[in-house]
Amino acid sequence: ATPTSIMVGTGRGAELGVLFRKGEALQLLRDARVVAVDKTGTLTEGRPKLTDLDVSQGFDRAEVLRLVAAVESRSEHPIARAIVEAAEGEGITVPAPAEFTSVTGMGVRAGIDGRRVEVGADRYMRSLGLDVDAFDDVAKRLAGEGKSPLYAAIDGRLAAIIAVADPVKADTPAAIAALHALGLKVAMITGDNARTAQAIAARLGIDEVIAEVLPAGKVDAVRRLKDEHGGVAFVGDGINDAPALAEAEVGLAIGTGTDVAMEAADVVLMSGSLQGVPNAIALSKATIGNIR
Ligand code: ADP
Ligand code: MG
Repeated sequence: ATPTSIMVGTGRGAELGVLFRKGEALQLLRDARVVAVDKTGTLTEGRPKLTDLDVSQGFDRAEVLRLVAAVESRSEHPIARAIVEAAEGEGITVPAPAEFTSVTGMGVRAGIDGRRVEVGADRYMRSLGLDVDAFDDVAKRLAGEGKSPLYAAIDGRLAAIIAVADPVKADTPAAIAALHALGLKVAMITGDNARTAQAIAARLGIDEVIAEVLPAGKVDAVRRLKDEHGGVAFVGDGINDAPALAEAEVGLAIGTGTDVAMEAADVVLMSGSLQGVPNAIALSKATIGNIR
């Protein structure tokens, strides 16, 4: 590509709200084969809502919600806000917890009123030696609906299954269709439950799903896609997306996301919409396309 075509492309990108932080990204995008996309906050709103809470026998629903919300009141995860909001919405006064701990990619725990409360993914419960099989049928149904199942344990007993659902952004389906029309494959990378991720991916026509990825595992997932397909563009918004944004041939950050993601990215999508990705790729094909 000539310096002029890069200048023209970069300028045109700015008009479209696609900010090229590196000129070479415009060239590399043309050769992308796969667009790998973070789920939460990129494909979805990143604002989950609590949809279900089923308690085990002998537990009181309102009391479980109060204790779980107390733990989550100290967490910054979007799931935490969903649970605290649900509790407050039911008129529950959420107490402050003691000894709060966040276990990366797993869940959170704290003490409240002398009780030990843990909330998180099935793998977190298993790591605590708790069996979640009692909720197996419920969990499968919830995940099949694209909801994320979580569990709560109180004093070492499985107390509840909880589900949160994070709505897909309105413009996500059209953006995926546009990527397919440009001949690209779309992959989803997420820390969420595999069955939940599959259900959402199936609805969106996403080609490949890499789920239950720990934050540090996103880089490995991008590396694997590179080995399999060649040119990988990664799209993300979160702090934990930064290494994957750097690892991909082209990293694209959602402009409404975290500063850390934007600093690690080659391209920033100012509109906050995934539609910026097919726009950027179409632009790279148009401006770099025939000039080599
Ligand atoms: P993601 O960005 O995909 O949610 P994370 O690594 O932040 O990935 O979390 C992975 C999983 O760990 C979540 O899907 C959830 O099951 C569990 N988890 C993490 N933080 C919390 C929390 N504050 N409350 C409940 N579960 C949590
Ligand atoms: Mg995200």
